Amino acid sequence: MSDRYQFFTSTPIGKLVVKNLGLPAPTPLERWSEGAPLVDGTVVTGGEGRLSKALVVALDDLGITNVGVSAEGQRYKGLVFDATGLTSADQLVALQQFFTPLMRSLTSCARVVVLGTVPDQTSGAGERIAQRALEGFTRSLGKEIGKGSTVNLVYVAPGAEQALESTLAFFLSPKSAYVSGQVVRIGATGAVEAEPVADQARPLAGQVAIVTGASRGIGEQIARVLHRDGAKVLGIDVPQAASELQGVMREIDGDHLVLDITAKDAPQRIAQHVKNTYGQVNGVVHNAGITRDKKLANMAEDRWSSVIAVNLTAPERISRELLEQGLVAANGRIVGVSSIAGIAGNVGQTNYAASKAGVIGLVDSLAPELEGGITVNAVAPGFIVTQMTAAVPFATREVGQRMNAMSQGGLPVDVAEAIAWYLSPGSTGVNGNVVRVCGQMMLGA
Ligand code: NAD
Repeated sequence: MSDRYQFFTSTPIGKLVVKNLGLPAPTPLERWSEGAPLVDGTVVTGGEGRLSKALVVALDDLGITNVGVSAEGQRYKGLVFDATGLTSADQLVALQQFFTPLMRSLTSCARVVVLGTVPDQTSGAGERIAQRALEGFTRSLGKEIGKGSTVNLVYVAPGAEQALESTLAFFLSPKSAYVSGQVVRIGATGAVEAEPVADQARPLAGQVAIVTGASRGIGEQIARVLHRDGAKVLGIDVPQAASELQGVMREIDGDHLVLDITAKDAPQRIAQHVKNTYGQVNGVVHNAGITRDKKLANMAEDRWSSVIAVNLTAPERISRELLEQGLVAANGRIVGVSSIAGIAGNVGQTNYAASKAGVIGLVDSLAPELEGGITVNAVAPGFIVTQMTAAVPFATREVGQRMNAMSQGGLPVDVAEAIAWYLSPGSTGVNGNVVRVCGQMMLGA
């Protein structure tokens, strides 16, 4: 579905109206296409801390052109600041000293990444305060930077210095087009030793990934992106969507299983299929989801129960079954699909928001107990243009699309790229995270 408002703002008359009325003017977001460089331009690095050396090594490994000193008149595609050396509040001025002179030298759709130390793994009060302060800095810069650019904070635990690469590849490239104002932790829970990525163009080569709800919308796009990255996809969807599911899977040389994930025997059937066909699975993406909106005063029990069953109980049961039977391979990945509604709440969505907040609970509960480099993380999409959101009334949809730092809705591919980053063999240190793919919503959390 096209964004007519965005098209209007790009016409001469639209530009005039936008300027005079102070309306949002969304910048067309750059998205990654196969074969393109990860970063189309130069990245400036700054700051002095325990990550400075590892940062340059990672950028070089990724083939990203980087400089330590900026030049007058040059335009830059990205900035990365190692803030791990900041151990007191007065040292935070280093952020202003590095960023302020560079802010006008950025291209559109530029990327800013701040690197810090996980606050509760710092060695003193001053350091903890300074590191925690980075969140406010990042979230504010994300809201003011404009022009389709993003700003994100990556907290790296002591000992996880070498685990940066896959996360930098995501946050510095157009793959993170609709992800801004986010805080990610690397190495805070579980193992950090990443598996080497043999082929950067196909990081998931040889892997098998389950995607539920894969016949359309976000799930279809997740399946396509994981296939692009080399994975064999086992798509799952309900009998009513069987022919669409088969169509998508045929196009990407995938496999399919037609079942309702809430069926009593669904976890066992999925496990049986994995065992018989592949032995083990490398990725499990719990994407299938439904809404049954009503204010709580009018909520019938079946509306409540069906939403909880699809969105929360099924992911929990399927994850447990696969883990208990040892069917998730070492360095495997489990991914939940939460929602901004599960973080900020939404009118008419007590059932949906409870289920989606519960998905975050599932991540929190599983992350510390997983072994063998298996991780669990979630994405929390904001307003993503799909059939689900096409059903939203016009005015609500328009507000939903504009009330974020990008002034536009995201695309299913934006959610899929975040999931592909979690699934990368290089992302073993990325465990227990919830990343919003919401263009940095202005409302709520
Ligand atoms: P969609 O309705 O287009 O697709 C959902 C898919 O899940 C469908 O193919 C459907 O058949 C399948 N499904 C539903 N119940 C199932 C069941 N019991 N068993 C197996 N498959 C089942 O929705 P979408 O917009 O692509 O959303 C995908 C996920 O993203 C959902 O979890 C949704 O809650 C979440 N999400 C979407 C948005 C958005 O803006 N579109 C925002 C936040 C979160």
